[in-house]
Amino acid sequence: MVTSVFEDAKQRLEYLGNLSEVRPEVIELMKHPSASKIASLPVRMDDGSTRYFPAYRCRYNDILGPGKGGIRFHPNTDLDEVQALALWMTVKCALVGLPFGGAKGGVEIDPKAHSQMEIERVSRAYIRAMNGFIGPDTDIPAPDVYTNARIMGWMRDEYEAIHQIKAPGVITGKPTALEGSEGREQATGLGAFFCLDKLIKQIPSLGESPRVAIQGFGNAAYHMAHALKKKGYNIVALSDSKGAIYSEEGFHVDSIWAEKQQSKSLKAIYCEGSVCESVPHKAMENDEIFGLDVDILILAALENSVTEENVEDIKAKVIVEVANGPVSLAAEKILDEKGVVILPDVLANAGGVVVSYFEWAQNKSALYWTLTEVLERLQQRMEDSFDEVWRIHQNHCHTLRQAAYKKALNRLEDALIAQGTKDYFAHSQHAEPSS
Ligand code: GLU
Repeated sequence: MVTSVFEDAKQRLEYLGNLSEVRPEVIELMKHPSASKIASLPVRMDDGSTRYFPAYRCRYNDILGPGKGGIRFHPNTDLDEVQALALWMTVKCALVGLPFGGAKGGVEIDPKAHSQMEIERVSRAYIRAMNGFIGPDTDIPAPDVYTNARIMGWMRDEYEAIHQIKAPGVITGKPTALEGSEGREQATGLGAFFCLDKLIKQIPSLGESPRVAIQGFGNAAYHMAHALKKKGYNIVALSDSKGAIYSEEGFHVDSIWAEKQQSKSLKAIYCEGSVCESVPHKAMENDEIFGLDVDILILAALENSVTEENVEDIKAKVIVEVANGPVSLAAEKILDEKGVVILPDVLANAGGVVVSYFEWAQNKSALYWTLTEVLERLQQRMEDSFDEVWRIHQNHCHTLRQAAYKKALNRLEDALIAQGTKDYFAHSQHAEPSS
């Protein structure tokens, strides 16, 4: 059982860092979050009472640039989880070559139990509490689990009200009407699709129409599923927090997504125009999705979905980590021995932060790009990152995660070397001549 997500993340980092043969200074740097803030958000409820919500922000490391990472609203979040997520953001931004460090935030709240007005007050209270900690050049938040573009818009507005300036670059993932970027909504799912589609070309035994099961059907999973379906993959199973559906024929993901937006439930349907019909399927418990005999299992829910407890059930040949940290370190070692290929989170879900970077750059320059421009640049960056990870995997590393960490840690190492490590200082008694 995993008791601390952050401890698990640090152990994985140390294990992969040692395999990468980076300098010990890099591993040491990455074991120490640079700053964290804990706050309590006093929020007026619709009935007039006041409730206090614990809130967190961790700026993990900023050697490569300002902190970057989402804010989640979830009843089980805490500082331990936020620090783990901030560590992964640091690796992710370094891996895909962004000028950002890593950060993450969270509010301990069940958003489903609150009205939209309460959620707006929580969002604004978060920005007031984190004032001085976040900022367009220090730490830039974005959406994460159960937060969205509208919430980012409220947060930007609160920051600007406090500082009496216009500062669109303080947060990314905003609505396009409020200087958000085209394509940010679909970026995480499409980024994962671009990587998976490249990976599949390396595994011809999976054929033209691989069978896919998706655990967790939120925004990223939907956009990925939509792109996969269009490309001929067969989406045979979907799950959410309440249950799962299975059909050997495969599902029409757009109909199911449209219905889920309205009724908040997962229904096996096919719609033509406004007429929807139920399609033959098997209803299952949500955790039955792990044991399905499919080619590809997409994990798009929360961390530690696959642990030592259920890893033996897995039959998929490829796992895609759209969520952050869905496979525990112990489970990964077992999957690795079984020959399961894992497309790791720090690469698979990096599309979101890549387009966040584009949004921030557009906000800074006040020049806005078309959807086509954004998606072309996203595809290029994801495919280049995949190719580089694949190349390192082929030449030096056993798993794709090892290769991804090697690339990210090497970039952090270069920055550390530029600042001077023990080697440099121990051998330089005199100042270097200036040119
Ligand atoms: N929450 C997303 C992630 O985990 C996006 C972060 C961002 O856009 O800054 O990568």
